[in-house]
Amino acid sequence: MELFNMRKLLFVACALLTIGFGAAANQDMNSQFNKYKDKLVQDMWRMYPGWASSIGYHNYDSLLPVPDAAARANEIRFCKSQLIELKKYPLASLNSANKTDYYLIENQMKYSIWSIEQLKSYEWDPSTYNVCGSFADMLGNDYAPLEQRLKSFGERMDKVPAYYSAAKKNVKNPTLEHTKLAIDQNMGGISVFRDDLNNALQKSKLTTGEKAKLLARATDCIAAINSYVSWLKNTPNVSQRSFRLGAELYKRKFEFEIQSGYTALEIFHKAEAHKAELHSKMFAITKQLWPKYFKGMAMPANELAAINEMIGVLSQKHVKPEEFQEAIEKQLPFLVNFIKQKDLLYIDPSKPLVVRREPDYMAGVAGASINAPGPYDKNGNTYYNVGSLDGWDKEKAESYLREYNHYILQILNIHEAIPGHYTQLVYANQSPSIIKSILGNNAMIEGWAVYTERMMLENGYDGDLGSDAKEASPEMWLMYYKWNLRSTCNTILDYKVHTMQMSREDAMKLLVTEAFQQKAEAEGKWKRVSVSQVQLCCYFTGYSEIYALREEMKNKLKEKFNLKKFHEQFLSYGSAPVKYIRQAMLE
Ligand code: ZN
Ligand code: ZN
Repeated sequence: MELFNMRKLLFVACALLTIGFGAAANQDMNSQFNKYKDKLVQDMWRMYPGWASSIGYHNYDSLLPVPDAAARANEIRFCKSQLIELKKYPLASLNSANKTDYYLIENQMKYSIWSIEQLKSYEWDPSTYNVCGSFADMLGNDYAPLEQRLKSFGERMDKVPAYYSAAKKNVKNPTLEHTKLAIDQNMGGISVFRDDLNNALQKSKLTTGEKAKLLARATDCIAAINSYVSWLKNTPNVSQRSFRLGAELYKRKFEFEIQSGYTALEIFHKAEAHKAELHSKMFAITKQLWPKYFKGMAMPANELAAINEMIGVLSQKHVKPEEFQEAIEKQLPFLVNFIKQKDLLYIDPSKPLVVRREPDYMAGVAGASINAPGPYDKNGNTYYNVGSLDGWDKEKAESYLREYNHYILQILNIHEAIPGHYTQLVYANQSPSIIKSILGNNAMIEGWAVYTERMMLENGYDGDLGSDAKEASPEMWLMYYKWNLRSTCNTILDYKVHTMQMSREDAMKLLVTEAFQQKAEAEGKWKRVSVSQVQLCCYFTGYSEIYALREEMKNKLKEKFNLKKFHEQFLSYGSAPVKYIRQAMLE
């Protein structure tokens, strides 16, 4: 806490020295811009009520916009008018925080217009249309009394039939993959209008009459969803579109979504080079460790096969299923202590991370994830949801624990919690910009988490060694490289599948042989890449940009470079695209 106050004081002192005629006018411009942002956010929530409630703003929960041509025209008008409005605030007169917000708003508006006019996924991706998740949130999330939530639920159901009628009008030559996804997800979600609603009604204080009214509307919703699904199943689709996005659309989507200083092609080349570098480092470690783990046995001549055997033997070191949660929990204080001892960055002790068993609605996913309070619930707890392996059969648990073995589990904790996502979020909350919290840059957020994995190992982090260790063990490095190959190959896969016609067979070869993934994991990844585009690039792109920026700052500042200062300054800009943080830091 203290640290931030001090920085603010320093900033005020500097501002006083330079304040003059122009500065006063700029201050005025910045406060006008702040007012504009507040109004913009309110207008956006009316425009996108589903988005609003997903981040904790519930005033418009009863609204369900019908996705027809008129709604699209209205959205384009809205975005264009924001682009005109933005012009009233000359960039030169805005401070650096507002400049970034300006760029984020501009990007968002252009992205929305481009999505409607060029990308047109509302035509070829039938899975865009699914109301079930947002209705489920209204029942599952305890943000208001149940009766009040049921009232919004009821009003919102009114538009469900019109919503799916519009969907049928929009969908043209959809891809097979998105059609299948739409069918699965809509059928899977339909129970919210049956079981979930029934359960909620039983718990509520509504009258019998009110309950009957809601149930009647729910019957109409179920019919609308069923009708959409059977329409998808039965409509002939002769000139179906490929799920591959194609180079032109991909390039633009990458620009809007990742907002990187690199182009998609540049990042693809970087990922390929990085993969080769990782392989050669992994082989060097394998050679070094071979006699320790395979005494007297010949090493396979094929380098990838040798690495694969070494990974296999190291993966056998893992906790017992019943110790999984405890093992994760135990590491957190160790991580905090390590960061303190090595002076890597300040960690605010007043915002502890609450470790909890994953809530029911997430059950069965295992692993670990961060659940942070949204911008409308800033004082809420940040939870670290840790999955349990209770009730898993022996074989499934064993394969899972091999994947999240002794080494990888530590890297997972670094990524998700400290100093990865959780720490970044605490810092982001210190730069209070609603724009950055709703339009935050995923490549920066994921990139930071991926960057910290390497940074921690570079500083000697290894759970088997103490805080005074200078260098992590070769075992730890090898397993880290395997983990890092995942985000590297995510990028290669995404780029090649969407712009270079990569076949399923070649994709499996990349993931299984070159990235050492289990077949089941690789198959899951193929499914994901066939229904998403660009998103898989955010990890590696953000990581590359942050790492490059750090090296650039090192070269620039020479012996004055301080890692702790670099981290704290970097995080102080909030979840902004790395290229804008770079601009601000080099200024
Ligand atoms: Zn085992
Ligand atoms: Zn992450």
